[in-house]
Amino acid sequence: MTASEGLVVALSGGVGGAKLALGLSRTLPPEDLLIVANTGDDFEHLDLSISPDIDTLMYTLSGLANQELGWGRADETWSFMETVDALGGESWFRLGDRDLAVHVERTRRLRAGDTLSAVTADFCRRLGVAARVLPMTDDRVRTRVLAEDGWIEFQEYFVHRQCRPVVRDLAFDGVEAARTHPDFLAALAEPNLRAVIVCPSNPFISVEPILALPGVRAALAACAAPIIAVSPIIGGRAVKGPTAKMMTELGLDPSAAGVAARYGDLLDGYVLDEIDAGSVAGLPVFVTHTLMKTLADRENLARIVLNAADKVGCKRP
Ligand code: GDP
Repeated sequence: MTASEGLVVALSGGVGGAKLALGLSRTLPPEDLLIVANTGDDFEHLDLSISPDIDTLMYTLSGLANQELGWGRADETWSFMETVDALGGESWFRLGDRDLAVHVERTRRLRAGDTLSAVTADFCRRLGVAARVLPMTDDRVRTRVLAEDGWIEFQEYFVHRQCRPVVRDLAFDGVEAARTHPDFLAALAEPNLRAVIVCPSNPFISVEPILALPGVRAALAACAAPIIAVSPIIGGRAVKGPTAKMMTELGLDPSAAGVAARYGDLLDGYVLDEIDAGSVAGLPVFVTHTLMKTLADRENLARIVLNAADKVGCKRP
């Protein structure tokens, strides 16, 4: 850990974002890191309020994540799911017993009137997460996907239909009326802001719901600190998940350059993999090894992204 050099705001989805968030959390003092989590994937299932990206971040940052599955908690047991299945209930969304407890307690607190951000902060504290994980909003935003047979809910697409439907369009229901979390907007206006990092997350379903919230694009455009993204596409492929497939289906080039074309206007620098060197023009590019397999990979990439931000520097004249 180093002495404070200013606040870093990281925009994150689930798995890809959480890898870099972990690297950042091991590189920065906890008070210098604010991780803003996408909540467009949130949904209600079996009467429970489920926040997949928040939970992936929480489990990853606390060391409780299931490394083998790539989602959920380590040392998980499945009695609940097996019983739901045996009773003929809905078992397509796998909820382990330990994970289930998080959703039950979150649901109880939300119904009692707590905000999602308050519940998340308390869970993080209790699970030993030092950095702050902040939902992008406490209001309801729900990503939907236009498939060939019409609009479907995000988890129907992502988990139930395993990303098989061809994506024609996406919508973030409720985003116009949602209030961007005030602490997020305040952080972007902080004189002490060192950098904004767009984690290597799916542009369409993780990053763009955050960018679509009221005031976020304007606050990013106005903020004095550099905005640096890490490409979630390496050599034309997603490391995991439907990012490249979605890009192709939406008529975009499935490449690091394709991602930059999507929100490059907001960026002051772009970190991409060695394999993609030379493929992006028009903004300062930092080429490195971006596949995070080990903890050391996560920490190295975090340092490189922070150095890139410091090199690009303050945008204020
Ligand atoms: P989700 O919400 O669980 O789908 O997770 P994210 O949106 O945060 O991350 C999905 C994206 O992370 C995919 O596009 C992956 O290609 C990307 N990703 C996953 N692991 C890595 C990695 O080690 N390096 C890079 N550069 N991208 C990664």
